Amino acid sequence: MAEAPKYEMPKAYEPGKVEQKWYQFWLEKGYFTPKIDPKKKPFVIIMPPPNVTGELHVGHALTATLEDIMIRWHRMRGEPTLWLPGVDHAGIAAQVVVEQKLAAQGLDRHKLGRQKFLERMRQWADKCRRTIAEQHQRLGASCDWSREKFTLDEGPSRAVRTAFVNLYNKGLIYRGERIINWCPRCATALSDLEVDHKDIQGNLYYVKYPLAENDGFITVATTRPETILGDTAVAVNPKDKRFKTMVGKKVILPAVKRIIPIIADEVVDPDFGTGAVKVTPAHDPVDFDIAQRQGLELINILNPDVTMNENAGPYAGLDRFDCRKAILADLEKEGLLVKVEPYTHSVGHCDRCQVIIEPLASRQWFIKMPPLAKPAIDTVTDGRIAILPERFTKVYLNWLENIRDWCISRQLWWGHRIPVWYCSDCSKLTVSVDEAKSCAHCGSANIEQDPDVLDTWFSSALWTHSALGWPDDSEELRYFYPTTVMETGYDILFFWVARMIMMGLEDTGDIPFSTVYLHGLVRDEKGEKMSKLRGNVLNPLDTLKVYGTDALRFALTSDISPGNDIKLTTPRLEAGRNFANKLWNATRFVIRSIEAEQANIEIKRDKLPLEDRWILSRLSRTTSTVTRLMQNFQFGEAQRQLHDFLWGEYCDWYVEFAKIRLRSGEVPSPLPVLVYVLEASLRLLHPCMPFVTEELWQNLKQRLPSGWQTTESIMLAAYPEADKKAIDPKAERVMESIIEIIHSIRNVRAEHKVESARWIEAQVYAGELKSAITAYSEVIQTLARARPVTFLDSREAMKSENVVALVLKESEVVIPMASMVDLEGERKRLQKEMEEVQAEIAHLGARLKDKAFLSKAPAVVVDRERDKLATRRDKLERLREQLLTKFQT
Ligand SMILES: [Zn+2]
Ligand SMILES: [Zn+2]
Repeated sequence: MAEAPKYEMPKAYEPGKVEQKWYQFWLEKGYFTPKIDPKKKPFVIIMPPPNVTGELHVGHALTATLEDIMIRWHRMRGEPTLWLPGVDHAGIAAQVVVEQKLAAQGLDRHKLGRQKFLERMRQWADKCRRTIAEQHQRLGASCDWSREKFTLDEGPSRAVRTAFVNLYNKGLIYRGERIINWCPRCATALSDLEVDHKDIQGNLYYVKYPLAENDGFITVATTRPETILGDTAVAVNPKDKRFKTMVGKKVILPAVKRIIPIIADEVVDPDFGTGAVKVTPAHDPVDFDIAQRQGLELINILNPDVTMNENAGPYAGLDRFDCRKAILADLEKEGLLVKVEPYTHSVGHCDRCQVIIEPLASRQWFIKMPPLAKPAIDTVTDGRIAILPERFTKVYLNWLENIRDWCISRQLWWGHRIPVWYCSDCSKLTVSVDEAKSCAHCGSANIEQDPDVLDTWFSSALWTHSALGWPDDSEELRYFYPTTVMETGYDILFFWVARMIMMGLEDTGDIPFSTVYLHGLVRDEKGEKMSKLRGNVLNPLDTLKVYGTDALRFALTSDISPGNDIKLTTPRLEAGRNFANKLWNATRFVIRSIEAEQANIEIKRDKLPLEDRWILSRLSRTTSTVTRLMQNFQFGEAQRQLHDFLWGEYCDWYVEFAKIRLRSGEVPSPLPVLVYVLEASLRLLHPCMPFVTEELWQNLKQRLPSGWQTTESIMLAAYPEADKKAIDPKAERVMESIIEIIHSIRNVRAEHKVESARWIEAQVYAGELKSAITAYSEVIQTLARARPVTFLDSREAMKSENVVALVLKESEVVIPMASMVDLEGERKRLQKEMEEVQAEIAHLGARLKDKAFLSKAPAVVVDRERDKLATRRDKLERLREQLLTKFQT
């Protein structure tokens, strides 16, 4: 025996103490850092970097758990395994958080200035980064902290500038005036993906535009009347006969009295409104395209804070919605407002602050997406990248096939500044990875860097290769890229996954990962999405304190399958905690037995009793099933199988059988198999519940001969492989029958509320399994509390009167009623009770016929007596039935 100090296992599992101890141990030993071994193919996950906007939420806990399960499993299989953690600067999202904090102090970023503001942002990001790392550690995440990255670190930042310059040089990045989504609160452009479209109950306003040359009008319909100020045409469909004579004429724009033409364009829907539409190229994407085709002027009527600018004439300076009211009043006065109809339409809101966005023409940087999308489509259609669940493949392809150019410039300060310098002498652009000191064209030092930063998703798109050192040709990049699995939520398939595939291919010429595993959303017990607004958020750290990390991990993933939403509920957390406790108790029992027996724990395979062969066979089957499920990303089902095997077979049956054998001192001792199955099961379960399995495994290891398990930690021990030779169908068949017999007798005892001290009788007919099962009569009697249990040769020999008869899979069981209850006593008790009830019925009946009572008593009292009579009659009926079933005569 090893000399390591043994300590008594506490009665109950205390996760708090155990978790911290083992995480520190793993960390100090450097287990999370893989060794580069060119002979082996690595398993790699780059962690989706949480935003530096605060703490981890339950969605992050799910991500961390699923990835840790995969990582621990592959590590135990001997693969060099890298899980690279990191955090995202989260551009607009983080800037909003810090700006809110500044506002609370009466400050804003402009008062602070760019440098001071960025310092504040850095401090905030550092704080979040530490919190996030601590929280991941509490969740048991076995990621390689020595490689932790931040999107704004020098390496990833250089990757961003390099990718930008490469795309610019290839003509795939351009600066142009386009309609973008403008958030007035955040004061920045947003990409289409950052806009939430919500149906809003608004109005459709019909406005008359007077013709310029002669009398008459053309009527247009609009939901945003203030944009009339920016109209540069009225358009109709060229096929629309109603307006045939109007095309080419001019109208006078109300309010600002500008003369604009009536034009024909295919895009106009003759069925919308009046069939004639106003064209506002600077504030509508469709109108912008019309203007491009027809050479119309763009008139921007808004300031960045969405007050009206000088182009709005008399309305200049008004807020956009005040302007709407003012213009409607004026139109009404002039008799130009024809009618107002209620109208539900989709309105874009800023995904970060929920303010209504304003589409407006603006000079921004864009990436030309179709040339990048094409190869990204191919990688999925030709199977180089698999998306799980498969149904998201269609969603992915559909989005890429219809992709639009990506607006990547943001009018923010927090992020990667655009690596472009403008020359005030020759007005040309210098685009450079390194800080430019002078103009690349004329050498002038009068240059100024673009003040804007890049969309935060630009750096995210590079994450799989930038986190591994790209653009440098590092050993890490060569060995760990392409990575293996990208595990993330399905809600960021477009934001992130698709863009990583496009940019990975563009920058490295290779796919960034071969499998995309998309998990669902975490919902509450009612199926509602957890959100701060709803107030139903379960803080993962609060649940950890109460239930333990393993219980939370179990609750989050024990029912999960790719793409499906999961419910996190208190009963599930309790189930996780109970499972950990069950394992704790079983291990304590095994350890106490080892200490008491000092037995040899070598399994003698040639003379194993039935239950030993059975549990070894079941272990073998469970091992191969779980391995197959893990390979297929069915982590929920894998955990369910392990839970059912450990709880429902090992703890509930094998341990119970073993207790009887240990008490009787039978040879061979069950200890070798008890230990063997427990130890292997702990390894099987380790990826899912790392802390309790390590604690139990270490406790077990201390009491076993040295050399029996040589690794220092369960996380380095080999993942069990199924022992095909252990499969024993005969043993499984007999054991299942024995279990079924005991189980059914216990059920009957429970149904008939037999006191636990009472022994009942049973007859068993087991057909061809008779002799195999009879050998276990002592165990059956003990575990079912039935004595005697008689094994019969034929079905005919079984009792058939006053019995409970059970037909099982391979046997039949009969239990005489008399053995469960004291028949004579029971009959007397029932009869006495019936007599009492009958007397009460007679009394109540007489009372309710008594005219004096009926006339004097209040109605409620009479009703109560009637109710009483009805319940007594009902009770009498039930007693009569009981008497009949128990004493069939
Ligand atoms: Zn916003
Ligand atoms: Zn120049």
